[in-house]
Amino acid sequence: MSAKLTSARTLVVKIGSSTLVDAATGALARAWLAAFAADVARVKARGQNVVLVSSGAIALGRRTLKLNTGAVKLEEAQAAAAVGQIGLAHAWSEALAAHGLTVAQVLLTLGDTENRRRYLNARSTLKTLLALGSIPVINENDTVATAEIRFGDNDRLAARVTGMIEADCLVLLSDIDGLYASDPRRNANARFISEVKAITPEIDAMAGASGSDMGSGGMTTKIMAARIATDAGANMVIAKGAVHQPLHAIEQGAHCTWFLASASPAAARKRWIAGALKPSGQITIDAGAANALTQGKSLLPAGVVAVDGMFERGDCVAVKDQSGREVARGLIAYGSDDARKILKAKSGEIETILGYRGRSEMIHRDDMALTRS
Ligand code: GLU
Repeated sequence: MSAKLTSARTLVVKIGSSTLVDAATGALARAWLAAFAADVARVKARGQNVVLVSSGAIALGRRTLKLNTGAVKLEEAQAAAAVGQIGLAHAWSEALAAHGLTVAQVLLTLGDTENRRRYLNARSTLKTLLALGSIPVINENDTVATAEIRFGDNDRLAARVTGMIEADCLVLLSDIDGLYASDPRRNANARFISEVKAITPEIDAMAGASGSDMGSGGMTTKIMAARIATDAGANMVIAKGAVHQPLHAIEQGAHCTWFLASASPAAARKRWIAGALKPSGQITIDAGAANALTQGKSLLPAGVVAVDGMFERGDCVAVKDQSGREVARGLIAYGSDDARKILKAKSGEIETILGYRGRSEMIHRDDMALTRS
């Protein structure tokens, strides 16, 4: 079981407020955090990328603002998040700096993972941060996220981030150790589910029955997260966060529930590009470029002979050969106006033509799926 964690290239770990902030006092669980930082440093030293999705801003901010302990209005929760996020980011930065690790704060909204342009920007920033060896610490941008555009729970935010960066493992650290067939608080013999191969209606029903007030998002949002993550090609695990060094505990076979990925992250992403997105335009490429694409190469501006339609950077376009046959679909790095200006140009000429240094590829191979069989 633990191999799914130890062999992952990139791990996304979600830490819930109940793990990070003491419920009684509203104070940061410093001893836990210090131990967890050592756990992260150990995983990182093994060569794995780590991205953290941390809740706790609202819980910390409420304490500072002396908001009552009961339900608060949405705008009060947002105000609390604005205050608490500073302390939260600082705590992570300090805890990981003790191991020589650099922390980057990234605040996202639902829209940032849905709108393709913002999605592409967030994705390349996160990938760059990982390439530079730092640890992104992500939270929802609660200040600007109103009711309709909120995730509201970091379980789903973490799952979306997992798909966005093609991480291969998502760890949800929770106040419960996994999925039970019924509510373990009411039924001491509730059956524990240690592995889920497919999220069937039966699994959904278990989530409903296992109690919805456990953890910030409850079991139902955890199953929603599992669906997003496994569809995106990642394995997901729900495990108890409260133990010191929970990642180590999972590696050692702690009681937890694994949800198995449906495909590899790269295959899942290509499936999404090829099947789920409607092309907003099309580009025609020459024979040399068509040949390069079949060999798994990126599409360079030099191979593009025509650009049709209006689209923006990050949109999905159909790529056709000169006989009009579709050969691929991909997320294009330039909007249609700029794409027209740089067609047939060498990558080195892009800056002179456009006045800014764009990407060398018109469509990067990671953003492209071949559609001609
Ligand atoms: N973004 C919220 C916070 O930092 C937490 C959301 C959640 O707990 O899932 O307090």
